Amino acid sequence: MEKESILKVKNLKKHYHDVKAVDGISFEVFKGEVFTLLGPNGAGKTTTLEILEGLKKHDEGDVFLFGTYIKNGIPLSLKEKIGVVLQENNFIDHLSVVETLKTFRGFYSSGLRIEEILKIVSLEDKKNTKVEKLSGGQRQRLAIGVALAGNPDLIFMDEPTTGLDPQARRNVWDMIVNLKENGKTIFLTTHYMEEAEFLSDYIYIMDHGKIIARGSVQELINAFGEERIIEAHLDVDENLKGELKEILHEVEFGKSKVFLKAYDLPKTMKIFLDWVEKRKVEVRDLIVRQSNLEDIFLKLTGRSLRD
Ligand code: ATP
Repeated sequence: MEKESILKVKNLKKHYHDVKAVDGISFEVFKGEVFTLLGPNGAGKTTTLEILEGLKKHDEGDVFLFGTYIKNGIPLSLKEKIGVVLQENNFIDHLSVVETLKTFRGFYSSGLRIEEILKIVSLEDKKNTKVEKLSGGQRQRLAIGVALAGNPDLIFMDEPTTGLDPQARRNVWDMIVNLKENGKTIFLTTHYMEEAEFLSDYIYIMDHGKIIARGSVQELINAFGEERIIEAHLDVDENLKGELKEILHEVEFGKSKVFLKAYDLPKTMKIFLDWVEKRKVEVRDLIVRQSNLEDIFLKLTGRSLRD
């Protein structure tokens, strides 16, 4: 079955004086997909999203939304098919959850019933709570509820879990999976690689306004992550760190952790374990894993996603 194109972008550019915020990017998003722009702060994700949401004008490039060429702003008929979850929400604190949803629902000629929205975002028991009394996670679920008010086909979510604790983040992920299962298309930006890995059908890795890699998680790993990573929990002083770097070269140290890149796994493992034995280092845990998106980003840019 042919996939339905929801959004197509060709050679999109937006420059602020000498800052090339978006510098010639192209992609296509299909119905029912979670499409993710993954990149560090300042990569150009929000600028891209704001152009696609109609909040900013682009300098160059072509945008097709639901098959329509977008020239001077997004027509109202298409705006009604889009939901937006912004990075920050300025809700009115003294309104309740239900009052907030009713306000936004009123902007649309048709859409979901308030009770349906409350159920999707699991805020039924908070419906009469004032916005100011909501936790960060509940507030974010309300933001998603607001974005769903007009029953959109395409939902833009700009870093929807930034600042949330792990449980609240997980709840938002489950909600996104549910929306996708119900045929919605999600355009997500994030700088959390676990989020991109968990949710995305397709990932475009963005840095300095450009797309530097793209594919499904597995395609990216196949293309860029041929090596294995040995991860060991241990504490060693600077001398021992230096020594290990001399023996194995591709070594990174984290907090009480060492990461070894292994192109030849048995050989690297043997060298490492011989060193551990010789120096009587206490290894508290040891795992071998495939490269993940964070390793790939580091490899492509020399920087971490959270830099
Ligand atoms: P974040 O994760 O921090 O939101 P981002 O990937 O969304 O980052 P953008 O917010 O799109 O990145 O910013 C891309 C670049 O454009 C940055 O260098 C930023 O400083 C710059 N920029 C964004 N908006 C403006 C503006 N209105 N005027 C000048 N420069 C801007």
